[in-house]
Amino acid sequence: MKKVRTRFAPSPTGYMHIGNLRTALFEYLIAKHEGGDFILRIEDTDQERLVEGAVDIIYDTMKEVGLTHDEGPDIGGDFGPYVQSERLPMYKKYADELVDLGGAHYCFCGEEEIERQRKEAESLGISFKYDDPCKHISVEEARERIAKGEKYVVRQTIKHGGETYFDDEVYGRIEVDNSILDESVLLKSDGYPTYNFANIIDDHQMNITHVVRGNEYLSSTPKYNLIYQAYGWDIPTYVHVPPVMKDEQHKLSKRNGDASFQDLVKKGYLPQAILNYIALLGWSPETEQEIYTLEELIKVFDIKRISKSPAIFDIDKLTWMNGMY
Ligand code: GLU
Repeated sequence: MKKVRTRFAPSPTGYMHIGNLRTALFEYLIAKHEGGDFILRIEDTDQERLVEGAVDIIYDTMKEVGLTHDEGPDIGGDFGPYVQSERLPMYKKYADELVDLGGAHYCFCGEEEIERQRKEAESLGISFKYDDPCKHISVEEARERIAKGEKYVVRQTIKHGGETYFDDEVYGRIEVDNSILDESVLLKSDGYPTYNFANIIDDHQMNITHVVRGNEYLSSTPKYNLIYQAYGWDIPTYVHVPPVMKDEQHKLSKRNGDASFQDLVKKGYLPQAILNYIALLGWSPETEQEIYTLEELIKVFDIKRISKSPAIFDIDKLTWMNGMY
């Protein structure tokens, strides 16, 4: 049996709300329940969406609640988090390898060709899916053009026909027809990987066994799996979780600063009470007990009891729990 290894992989695009912290907690509990390792990885390849100070907030929050990661680059006697922008050459190497394996191709089209196709689809009233003419350029020719300095991106190649499925721990079997999958960019013209690609490479490189993340990623997971298959890599166990909602209609948003962990602490809520509260948000130990230490949560945590329904953040319940500490 492989050692269980999980990771919390936030994009530093805003504050850390308690929904994000719940994902981190579930990852931590899954690893620690099995005596495994927990990793912190900052996914900062989308440089345009970075929010200044967000990495420090993530790092401090994790420390404050005691979700300590087990490894990472040395930052003066301490393990720092892994940071994707510090690993760029590796993603390029893997992108070239994926082209050789037939799972991706070089694309030289500029925005004009993409726009042209988008407009054409619009005028025909059909949904837009980019049909990349560069798919038909041989790898040799493409590499010659790159060597001469032409700008390019690497796109995933989706073979027509067939279906891709995977078994999610919360949502069960998810199946899609490959023809609906688009050929997304994996490596951008500035040499940065896109979020999806860096995520796959790192999960493989870091031997991650369980991926816990928001259910908004359910639809892109089949595309991830086609890439895992092209490399011949093991696919991790997926645990997609429903969102934490502000109310019946709205999800918590880190861009708006909703239910920010740091704000709650400033208002007098104790980190341990917040952690206890979020453990029971969309997960049930199926007992009457409501107050848990982190050690107790590690003992009783079980993926099978994560709920499929969205959870609503209830400040009154958190206030009650805070009073119990
Ligand atoms: N970086 C992603 C986010 O912050 C997480 C995706 C993942 O955990 O696979 O939403």
